[in-house]
Amino acid sequence: FAATQPNGTAATAPVNGRTSHYNAATERLQIVDNEKHFTPDLTKQIERWGLRDTGFEYNIVAVFGSQSTGKSTLLNRLFGTTFDVMDEAKRQQTTKGIWMCRGEGMNVMVMDVEGTDGRERGEDQDFERKSALFSLASSEVLIVNMWEHQIGLYNGANMGLLKTVFEVNLGLFGKKENSSGRTLLLFVIRDHIGSTPLANLQATITTDLSRLWEGLSKPAELKDQQLSDYFDLEFTTLPHKLLVPDKFDAGVQSLRRRFVDKGSPDYLFKPAYHKWIPADGVAFYMEGIWEQVQSNKDLDLPTQQELLAQFRCDEISAGALAEFNEQVKSQKRPIEAGQVVQGLGQMMKNWRTQALTRYDRDASRYHKAVYNRKRSDLVAALDAVLSPLFLGQLKNLHKYCLVQFKKSLLDGLKGEEYDFGDVVVKGRAKWENKFKETAKEAVVEGTDWVWEDEMELLREEIQGVADQCRKDETKKMVNQIERNIKKHIADPVELQLNKGTEDMWDEILRSFIGILSKAEEAYLTKAKSFNCTEEENESSLATLRKRAWQGLRAKVDEQTADAVFLSKLRGHFEERFRYDEQGVPRVWKPDDDIDGAFKKAKEATLDLIPRYADIKPQDSSLEFTLPSDSADSLSGEPELDFEASLVVFSPTKQMDLGNRFRKDADAYYVEAKRSTVASIAQ
Ligand code: GDP
Ligand code: MG
Repeated sequence: FAATQPNGTAATAPVNGRTSHYNAATERLQIVDNEKHFTPDLTKQIERWGLRDTGFEYNIVAVFGSQSTGKSTLLNRLFGTTFDVMDEAKRQQTTKGIWMCRGEGMNVMVMDVEGTDGRERGEDQDFERKSALFSLASSEVLIVNMWEHQIGLYNGANMGLLKTVFEVNLGLFGKKENSSGRTLLLFVIRDHIGSTPLANLQATITTDLSRLWEGLSKPAELKDQQLSDYFDLEFTTLPHKLLVPDKFDAGVQSLRRRFVDKGSPDYLFKPAYHKWIPADGVAFYMEGIWEQVQSNKDLDLPTQQELLAQFRCDEISAGALAEFNEQVKSQKRPIEAGQVVQGLGQMMKNWRTQALTRYDRDASRYHKAVYNRKRSDLVAALDAVLSPLFLGQLKNLHKYCLVQFKKSLLDGLKGEEYDFGDVVVKGRAKWENKFKETAKEAVVEGTDWVWEDEMELLREEIQGVADQCRKDETKKMVNQIERNIKKHIADPVELQLNKGTEDMWDEILRSFIGILSKAEEAYLTKAKSFNCTEEENESSLATLRKRAWQGLRAKVDEQTADAVFLSKLRGHFEERFRYDEQGVPRVWKPDDDIDGAFKKAKEATLDLIPRYADIKPQDSSLEFTLPSDSADSLSGEPELDFEASLVVFSPTKQMDLGNRFRKDADAYYVEAKRSTVASIAQ
């Protein structure tokens, strides 16, 4: 069989060649071996039997009785198990140990307790006591198997066994903390001939049991406890297997029904006997019990159950967490790579719910306090895994929305026809909403996660971007208006400076103020949709005024550059010297007063220089001023010294220009003189 067995465990081989088809349900396992060691394979075996996930929907039955009384035979017939039966021909000695099988077609773990009869052979009763204790701590029904002819032999082997059972039971369930345990003793009387009715046999056994119970040395506090406080008793007989096999079979069948038929009034696995160990914890629990028994420690069942609960809840929790981590992995990478994962919240909720459902399904059967405590631990562990995903999602979402907002500005501000304020308001609403929606979706109920702080940061950044953009827009607009001013001021300046009339500055300033006020109006109209603050408008207008003034000043500079200005002076001079009042060119004759005319024209021209020297209108209402703190807020240019900017020529410069003009004028004078000489010579 070894070859056909999936796990190759020798101890789980089906016996006697009964099975031609291999079936894991019929595997048997020696849970305690000859050396009193507990098997490490029970958990796996319970799973292979298909009982692991049955919760409380299973039962445990054990058998007790002296050796070779047909115990294994009975179990195999009753439950379809595969325990070893002593070979009639060889009469080989059975071993010590506890075996387990799954009942065929039923959720029952059947334990066959084997042992040499220590009492008869004069050996110590150590194993007998330990296996009794172990069986009582785990089984619901204890089958006590005996021959009919053993009944009434008060000092026989059976009574010795039962005395042991009672004693260890008192030690175990007599304790207050273990008091909930109750066990059914099912007496199966074998080879019943029929001449003594069951009722009589039952009475004899009951009397013997009472005597036995009375004779027990009980601790003082349990002195008044009755046998019935711990045990229910049931009795049944079976005919001789070899002499009346048919009747034996029929008896076994009707007894089997009492183990199977839950609806029947004489159903044997009553809930009162259940030890309430979840099936998936039976192996750990039994091992713990056996260890306690084996080391002769007091068996404290609540402690055992709590240990079991801790172990199993940890295991179940770890299983749920592992599966959960596997699921989380799928979205961890995209989040770490900066992606916004669609529907992340729903996914996280699902993973979390699944993990908790898995945990609850298996762990809720265990000790409530332990179950609850480990559940909180699990919730904390799950949330500790999810929280970075949530925070990562928020961070990515924040970045994404900010980028999208910037994009919406770029798109919205394309071309000429746009309303800046509108573009900003719409973009902000759209992307702040998107953040809110997506962030809300990512929150898992039952956590204390918040997204509002991140939203506040995003808002501030969006505001910052909008502000910067508005500044750029304003700058663009101011620049454009400035260009416009310069274009319009050029002609009036050139014209008036050429004229050099006394009111030239009045005319220039009048034009300038008119152009500037139009520009300011244009700015205010456009700026309306920018949602600029009063201060920002003030500052932009101040910039505009200053730039306009500088534009004007630049034009004045251009027109009063040395060469340009000297040429203007020459023009004025020539007009006076070389042309008469009617504008006709003069032809000098020898008796003309060249000197007088020259002097007059020169003086008149020199008188013009101070007129240009300061930007000063005659009409003081046209005087233009700029506030002293007119630093350019948009370009950060240094402050303008307005007073200095009113000065076109300093006194020194005026003198210098006068001198340079005199030299030019002298040349005209010499030329005029020469022309008269020439005319005489002709
Ligand atoms: P265990 O040691 O108590 O498990 O007993 P076994 O089941 O191994 O059986 C011991 C011997 O008793 C075997 O040779 C069986 O054939 C025989 N036997 C089993 N059942 C009965 C029975 O009901 N009556 C009689 N007389 N012999 C039986
Ligand atoms: Mg046996």
